[in-house]
Amino acid sequence: MAPLMGRTRIHLRKGDTVEVIGGKFSGKRGKVLDVLTDRGRAIVEGVNLVKRHVKPSRKAPQGGIIEKAAPLPAARLMVVCAKCGEATRLGHRFLGDGTKVRYCKRCGEQFET
Ligand SMILES: [Zn+2]
Repeated sequence: MAPLMGRTRIHLRKGDTVEVIGGKFSGKRGKVLDVLTDRGRAIVEGVNLVKRHVKPSRKAPQGGIIEKAAPLPAARLMVVCAKCGEATRLGHRFLGDGTKVRYCKRCGEQFET
């Protein structure tokens, strides 16, 4: 079930709270820090941290190890609804003025206002 390259539609937005489904971070939740649309991935706060060894520099005079969140495939992330608190599928609907908004398929809560 490999996603088609370049055709993955990203349902996530920066600032969404998401839950990881499958993989070794299954069940973990975090905030979306960045969405890499062209790669079909997203960076989630506190999930998939990788340690980077950094040489001493002006910015980090000590050098050492920093932890950085690495991108996860968007297909493995589900948006968590703020109202019902569940990882949910999203629906789309259009408002009267044509604005497209996302909503929770469980409770119907609208995400964008
Ligand atoms: Zn909901």
